[in-house]
Amino acid sequence: MFAAVVINSNARELNRVFDYIVPAEMQGTICVGDRVFVPFGKGKNLSEGYVSELKEKSEFANKEIAKIEDSILSKENIELAKLMSEKYFCNFSDCIKLMLPPGGASKDLTKRVKDKTARFVYLAKEKDEILFYIDKNLKSDKQKKLLNFLLENDGMDVSELEAITEVSKAIMSTLEKKELIKFVYEKIERNPFIHKKISRDEKLVLNEEQQSVYDQVEFMIENEEFTEFLLKGVTGSGKTEVYLQLIEKVLEKGKKALVLVPEISLTPQIIDRFLARFGEGIAVLHSKLSNGERFDEWNKIKNGDAKIIIGARSAIFAPVDNLGIIIIDEAHDSSYKSDMTPRYNAKDLARFIAKQNNIPLILGSATPDVCDYYKAAQGDKELVLLTKRANNASNPTINIVDMRQELAIGNKSMFSEILKEKINENLKNKKQTILFVNRRGYSTFVMCRDCGYVVKCSNCSIALTYHSFGNVLKCHYCGHEEPIAKVCPECSSSKIKYFGTGTQKVESEIEKLFPEATTIRMDIDTVSKKNSHENILNKFKNENIDILIGTQMIVKGHHFPNVTLVGVIAADGALNIGDYRAEERTFQTITQVAGRAGREKDKGEVYVQTYNPDNYAIVCSQDQDYDRFYKGELILRKNLNYPPFCDIILIRIQGENINSVKKVSKKLYEELLKQKNENLFVYKPVPSPVEKIQNVYRWRIVVKGRLNRKAIATINEALKNLDNRDKNVTITVDSNPTNMM
Ligand code: ADP
Ligand code: ZN
Ligand code: ZN
Repeated sequence: MFAAVVINSNARELNRVFDYIVPAEMQGTICVGDRVFVPFGKGKNLSEGYVSELKEKSEFANKEIAKIEDSILSKENIELAKLMSEKYFCNFSDCIKLMLPPGGASKDLTKRVKDKTARFVYLAKEKDEILFYIDKNLKSDKQKKLLNFLLENDGMDVSELEAITEVSKAIMSTLEKKELIKFVYEKIERNPFIHKKISRDEKLVLNEEQQSVYDQVEFMIENEEFTEFLLKGVTGSGKTEVYLQLIEKVLEKGKKALVLVPEISLTPQIIDRFLARFGEGIAVLHSKLSNGERFDEWNKIKNGDAKIIIGARSAIFAPVDNLGIIIIDEAHDSSYKSDMTPRYNAKDLARFIAKQNNIPLILGSATPDVCDYYKAAQGDKELVLLTKRANNASNPTINIVDMRQELAIGNKSMFSEILKEKINENLKNKKQTILFVNRRGYSTFVMCRDCGYVVKCSNCSIALTYHSFGNVLKCHYCGHEEPIAKVCPECSSSKIKYFGTGTQKVESEIEKLFPEATTIRMDIDTVSKKNSHENILNKFKNENIDILIGTQMIVKGHHFPNVTLVGVIAADGALNIGDYRAEERTFQTITQVAGRAGREKDKGEVYVQTYNPDNYAIVCSQDQDYDRFYKGELILRKNLNYPPFCDIILIRIQGENINSVKKVSKKLYEELLKQKNENLFVYKPVPSPVEKIQNVYRWRIVVKGRLNRKAIATINEALKNLDNRDKNVTITVDSNPTNMM
């Protein structure tokens, strides 16, 4: 027996299989997916690898597998990694990493389970005594600092304490010897739902439309057949209720469910609905979990305790067996596409996994991705519709406000007269308002009125944003901060002016205009600690705060019964981003924000302020006319040859030396042309729209065409021919990127 093994390595030249002989004693146990050690190359050291295939014949094998380490991965994992490495131009071993337990496949899985207990530090004497010691008997400042801290925060994890106080563990030991503190081993509770008391609910009687969607999907569950459904359902149409009932069906059959949601809407609100319906057996995976929590959740899934897995993009790699359905909510969201190697799209992988398992896949959205909708029209997906709000709430009215008119009548403020009036009215009626702003910070850029100089980041070719908190300019790409300039560095003029509107500016204007209003702001600057996302939303809801001001973060999924007014401060922000999806993003955003208004008995009103009232994305969003928007968009995409009519492959060439970057770009361009693939159109290398980030120059080559096997081979071949290139230049290939910048 022989095994094809992929060596665990980042080297492009090792991204292939090598055949090994399976020794007789391993033949009964070895499986595809096993982690093995094999002799490789000249040295004596063994290399780690994964079995990708077992076979009876091999022309090349001449060495034996030395050892089987563990079998964490399945045959399906290996198939998925193969597909990914090909489709996303990356190494098999990079893909494998995503499927391993958090922390990687370390030597001993059980060892890490120990981190369920941690060492906590407690004061060992009464507070008065400690105070006395601090006063009289202690000389060391560090010791005093630690004790003082513990007086306020008794019972803290050692490492955390060390990180916060910067007092070393050695000093803690000294204090322990003096019997001032003590170490206690405690089990740490890593259940992310521990703080929750959720009352159970029962399933609702589905309305006719919901029932019809349910029946179609249920048919596939019963028949154990793969079908990809595109569920287009207006916001509040009861998509989640349909998901819940389908999952119930799947569980009844002894199978499991995987639900993906955008990272940003992975809020407690959505998880609560699952907890309320199912109570137990739910695992949650997202980026805010601690390593310990992630590890626990992973194990809960691996050992079968979790029947429902809810997570962001990377949950697609959760070790679930016996899947019965995959649901991707808000499927148009760009967070399903990874912008790091491997640059995978979770929707593509979900399709692959659903086929492997013969189960239905649902992509749910109020504003489907134009490419998905097109594929549904072509018959590649099954389109199912929910056209009405489920709880009889009426759709909100959307009003477009022409900000050019406001200027004409002398209103230079960021709020139109009508929006001010409506906010005022809402304040009087004790109703809540949401104001959506697409930028955080105060103003979007700072410019000299005399010479036009724009203050840019010294590391990145991007304008700095003014933040009123701390009174600094910040780079949103690299985090660089600098004090604000009083005079222009170019011409010494003092006419420095702040342009554009960010969340902080809206907040301060609201405070000026409506001093009596309570406000709360939500953007990356206010959401940093573990639960503050949740805290902000809960506070807004429970304390009936008048106005929530926020970025993209506020637009998804939330259900605030008392919100009746939504204002979009500047709908144009997304229109000028130099991306072929600018209109699509605008339409989606307006629809999503509007969906937050009037979700219960009071009707919702939305005011969309814009300088481009004739733009078709904005016009169509007023009537919530997705189909009209889609038709217009499709014509444009066809004329300009953009997806869905082709794939876009973005090859990025980056490095600190601009000349090397240019040289490699040119060479790669020539190599691509040499391949003579007539189905691919290769554009000349040019600087990326953001040419420099953190002192790294970024050039790009755009390739358009169908990303089929031949195209993949063409690009791989061209890359291979470049292999002797300057090692200080990195090349990444991104198929259908979400970010063209
Ligand atoms: P979506 O996921 O499409 O935004 P939700 O599932 O959140 O919609 O439903 C919106 C509201 O309608 C929720 O308050 C939900 O409880 C309610 N709802 C959903 N389905 C029904 C139904 N069949 N009967 C009554 N109310 C429903
Ligand atoms: Zn100037
Ligand atoms: Zn920067």
